[in-house]
Amino acid sequence: MPELPEVEATRRGIERAAAGQRIRELRIYDARLRWPVDPAIAAQIAGQSLTAAGRRAKYLLLVLERGTLILHLGMSGSLRILPADAPLRKHDQFDLLLANDTTLRFNDPRRFGSLHYTLEDPAKHRLLQHLAPEPFAANFDAAYLRRITRGRRTAIKQVLMNSRLVTGVGNIYASEALFRARIHPRRRAGRLSERDCGKLLRGVRAALSAAIRAGGTTLRDYVGTDGNPGAFRQKLYVYERDGQPCRRCGTLIRTIRQGQRSTYYCPQCQPR
Ligand SMILES: [Zn+2]
Repeated sequence: MPELPEVEATRRGIERAAAGQRIRELRIYDARLRWPVDPAIAAQIAGQSLTAAGRRAKYLLLVLERGTLILHLGMSGSLRILPADAPLRKHDQFDLLLANDTTLRFNDPRRFGSLHYTLEDPAKHRLLQHLAPEPFAANFDAAYLRRITRGRRTAIKQVLMNSRLVTGVGNIYASEALFRARIHPRRRAGRLSERDCGKLLRGVRAALSAAIRAGGTTLRDYVGTDGNPGAFRQKLYVYERDGQPCRRCGTLIRTIRQGQRSTYYCPQCQPR
C-alpha cells in the first residue's frame, strides 16, 4: 500500500513532470473506483492548466486554475507519466492527457483509489476536513503527542497507526519511528513521558523524511522515481528485518503481531 513517502514522491514527480501543463482531456476507462468517478469532471477540467501538485495526508491535490482534483491511490493505485499514445494495460482507470503529448495515467488493480474535483477550498472537502494532523504540520508537535497518548492504555504502536489521531504513519514507518525513538512498540501510550514524546516526534519525522528523500520504499511503480526501488529498503532499521542483526547494536531484530499487523523492533535498543 502506498504510504505517505510514496505519495509525497508521487507529488514531487507530478510537479516536475506536469506543473504548468494544460489539461487536454480526462479520459475515463473505468469509473468504478472506491467512489464512482463523476463523468462530469471531464468537461469541468478540460482546457485548464495544472498549476501545482499538493498533498494532504495521502491525498494528492492537483491544483488547477479553477478548483482542485483530489486523488487517492488507495491500496494499489499508481500514477505514471507516459507518452499520450502508450498502449493501455490492464487496470488502467483513467488518463489525464496533457498538452505536451504526455499523460498522467492512473492504474489501480484493487480499485480503492478515488478521484474528485472541487471548486471549494480542498481542506473543506468532506474527505479532508476531518483528517488528523500530519507529521510535518506545525500542530503535530510533542505537546500534541502528549495529549493523544495521555491516559491511553493502548500500545504506542497502535496510537501511531490510528488514523483518527495521526495521519500518514503506516505500518513501515510506525516500526521505524519507534526504533529511532528507542521506544518499545508495546509500551502503553499513557506511559510515555514528555521527553519520550519529543523523541517520538523526531523519530516519526526522521523516518518519513529519510523515505521521502529516497523516493519512498516500494517505489517502482510510482511517478518521478529513478527506477531504484531497493535503495531505501537497505536503509530500514527494523522493518522486515526479523532475525537480522540490529544496525545499531547487533542484537537480532524481533517481530510481534499488533492489531493484525507485524511490528519489528530491537529488544536491546527498545526496552519495555
Ligand atoms: Zn539494537
